[in-house]
Amino acid sequence: MTKPVMYSYRTIGIYSMDKKLQDKLYKKYPKIFKDRNRSIRESCMGWGIDTGNGWYKILDILCSLLQWDTDENKYPQVVASQVKEKYGGLRFYTNGENDTQHGMIKFACALSELTCEECGSMTDVTQTSGWIVTLCPEHMKAYNTQRGIKDTKKTDKHSKYVKQNFN
Ligand SMILES: [Zn+2]
Repeated sequence: MTKPVMYSYRTIGIYSMDKKLQDKLYKKYPKIFKDRNRSIRESCMGWGIDTGNGWYKILDILCSLLQWDTDENKYPQVVASQVKEKYGGLRFYTNGENDTQHGMIKFACALSELTCEECGSMTDVTQTSGWIVTLCPEHMKAYNTQRGIKDTKKTDKHSKYVKQNFN
């Protein structure tokens, strides 16, 4: 039985990435997510990975590249201080990073703005205006149904950064 799409959509800002997927990242990259068990008073990582499941792969690739450079090239160890969605895009805050690491993070965040936050699809992904969400057509429809929105004001244009660099 297929899960009805509209119920699979998380309520933005309330639910984080599925615990199973978060734990997978924590297990693969324990040094990057060293602060995962800290209280929310000590680190924003106490909130967990506050994005939809669709960005799991982006985070997985980002963390694997970051950790590889630390292990192989003696780059500083990046420690995530907060991972969340903001204005329809991924934000990955750390305790410090060098220029190369900064570039990787920037690229991952730009990529998220072209990737459905719910399922990871990159096909015909759009962003809404106002309260920005980044979704594929199927999940945009589900999102609107869930909220009783009849007419989505789609921007068709991605964020300023993406517009400048990808169009
Ligand atoms: Zn989707």
